[in-house]
Amino acid sequence: MKAMVLKRVSAIEKEPLEMIDLPNPDPGPKEILVKVSACGVCHTELDEIEGRIQPNLPIILGHEVVGRVEGLGSGATRFNLGDRVGIAWINSACGKCHFCREGNENLCLEFRGTGCHANGGYAQYTVVSEDFAYPIPERFSDSEAAPLLCAGAIGYRDLWVSGIKKNQTLGLFGFGASAHIVIQVARYWGCEVFVFTRSEEHRNLAKKLGASWAGRPEDEPPKKVNCAIDFTPVGETVLHALRVLEKGGRLVLAVIRKRNPIPSLDYAQYLWDEKEIKSVANITRKDLKDFLPLAAEIPIIPEVQEFKLEEANKVLNMLKQGKIQGVGVLKMADP
Ligand SMILES: [Zn+2]
Ligand SMILES: [Zn+2]
Repeated sequence: MKAMVLKRVSAIEKEPLEMIDLPNPDPGPKEILVKVSACGVCHTELDEIEGRIQPNLPIILGHEVVGRVEGLGSGATRFNLGDRVGIAWINSACGKCHFCREGNENLCLEFRGTGCHANGGYAQYTVVSEDFAYPIPERFSDSEAAPLLCAGAIGYRDLWVSGIKKNQTLGLFGFGASAHIVIQVARYWGCEVFVFTRSEEHRNLAKKLGASWAGRPEDEPPKKVNCAIDFTPVGETVLHALRVLEKGGRLVLAVIRKRNPIPSLDYAQYLWDEKEIKSVANITRKDLKDFLPLAAEIPIIPEVQEFKLEEANKVLNMLKQGKIQGVGVLKMADP
């Protein structure tokens, strides 16, 4: 099979992913072999490539994987050959520790990420435990379904963690892959949404998707927001978000790493009045099982830009420069 492989940490501008021919992987016990048809490109891949999080090298990146079951390991019974499945960031967790037992498998000490600790979907084939694959609702094409598996499902978790209630006001800081899906769920729940982003293109897309106001991160919205989600990789946004947060409101930090520190903040101005800050780490299988049917019901149709597997470096560079509208998706050619 053909795969785009990361061998060492590097700036993405140096185009570090290499197209390599590899033997097809073999599904182990309770695993399935998946012929990949589409794989979304996520910001987390930039963090892995540039060393802000540490993957097991060499690695095949990619954790928004859609494909069809083409082989079954011993004892694998959940899916039939030909079934369409998705694979997401959560590749495995121990299932035994107190985090796992309490439904917080995203925090498991043995958490393994797809395309980070196990090979992912920047390839024509991959394998995964059948317990960590999900049926894809019919109404989505392969490319449309890919971003639902990370940008969508993590966004759904961000919303859930924010504690937003129906008809409240939500602020979104940054308007990339996740936010453009979150806004569709929030609007479906009757929430008013304000979007804060430096990109004029993103502000226009936000309005098209139902934002009642869109401005720059430092701008003053028409009123305070009950909850806010910060998708940006920069520290300053935390202050902008806390400034417009209503008393008792919660700010959710959706990114894995900030590129620069959160500036020191004046307690009385930014945090007092029972404001909260909470981060989101990883994802659980329940998030995916709840979100995928909801996405089909709404329906959420992600905006996708398709590319070829060999264009992965280019897509990641575009992503870094904020030049992807919606989500970039790698479409596999037949082997
Ligand atoms: Zn992701
Ligand atoms: Zn565990």
